[in-house]
Amino acid sequence: MKVTDFLARLERVKPAGANQWTALCPGHDDQHPSLSITEADGKILLKCFAGCDLVDILKPLRLEQKDLFFDGHQGKGMGGILTLVKPVNVSTPPQIVFRNS
Ligand SMILES: [Zn+2]
Repeated sequence: MKVTDFLARLERVKPAGANQWTALCPGHDDQHPSLSITEADGKILLKCFAGCDLVDILKPLRLEQKDLFFDGHQGKGMGGILTLVKPVNVSTPPQIVFRNS
């Protein structure tokens, strides 16, 4: 699946930088976009700042982890490339800071 196909399934998608977007997280009752989507190296990386597990994010979309690989990138020995970073303290979501350095 391409990142554009994935973004089409999400709500309130906004660009957040080069190959980055934010959107409402389908894994929890999201009031403001908590989900960070990054396109990198032929795959889609997801991070929910509220701390959702990857499976919780994908289940409402009826997707599986393999769907986060772009077409043609499956089965090429890129196992273990999905990253989902949880904030240390979910009550204080980390701030996203963009620098121009
Ligand atoms: Zn979430």
